[in-house]
Amino acid sequence: QPAVRMRAARRRYELGDETVDALNDLDVDFHRRTFTAVMGPSGSGKSTLLQCAAGLDRLNGGETFIGDVEIGSLSEKARTLLRRSKVGFVFQSYNLIDSLTAIQNLELPLRLAGRKPERSRITAGLTRVGLGDRMHHRPSQLSGGQQQRVAVARALVSGPEVVFADEPTGALDSAGSRSVLELLRSVVDREGQTVVMVTHDPTAASFADRVLFLRDGRVVDDLQHHRGVPGD
Ligand code: ADP
Ligand code: ADP
Repeated sequence: QPAVRMRAARRRYELGDETVDALNDLDVDFHRRTFTAVMGPSGSGKSTLLQCAAGLDRLNGGETFIGDVEIGSLSEKARTLLRRSKVGFVFQSYNLIDSLTAIQNLELPLRLAGRKPERSRITAGLTRVGLGDRMHHRPSQLSGGQQQRVAVARALVSGPEVVFADEPTGALDSAGSRSVLELLRSVVDREGQTVVMVTHDPTAASFADRVLFLRDGRVVDDLQHHRGVPGD
């Protein structure tokens, strides 16, 4: 069973008398323990795909399963609860809370999910992303790459089924990008997680196992990578 499955997915936006099918009868499975990059021109539906697959937005037609749960059939409240336990999200701009330390930023999703923010779980998470010596730092005291690694640790702390990342390296220099991509790679290889990442950057996509190309709300190409050393 895939971590996430979408069938005949349609997401229609209506603006005045214009309609846009941001997702247009799209079928896709994201398998467990894989790292998928989603590419395609601006406006092809990449962000909409992530938002709908993560339960942040709703389809107008078709189905989205996270594990065995079809999320379109859930109430708003049930969908929010499912999202808090089963899905992690990483944004281009990190979206950490500036007034909180790294540890406190990881406590938040656990509190929101009604769980005890166990310190050992949080310090283990920050150590795994290479920030064991920065746990009491605030975002402004960290580099961009370090901030994004805190955001990845935050996305993982609840033990989700899948982590979605929307242009996670879009604001980073090449060293910062590399540190985040190597982390996402290891999250899949070592933790057995599932990662789905939107990117415009072919170098970033080369870290993935699979590259999905969207155009006009559909999948137009789906390449399995035989991964070499990035850059070769
Ligand atoms: P991408 O991430 O590939 O750039 P998006 O998923 O953001 O593409 O957008 C896909 C299409 O849906 C575009 O035509 C965009 O203009 C439209 N769209 C996205 N979000 C909205 C919205 N909230 N309201 C209206 N149209 C939208
Ligand atoms: P669980 O506690 O969910 O059964 P594990 O005991 O295997 O899972 O892992 C401990 C928890 O640490 C994971 O569930 C997850 O919340 C978190 N975690 C796993 N990998 C990472 C990582 N790379 N960075 C931060 N936190 C992680």
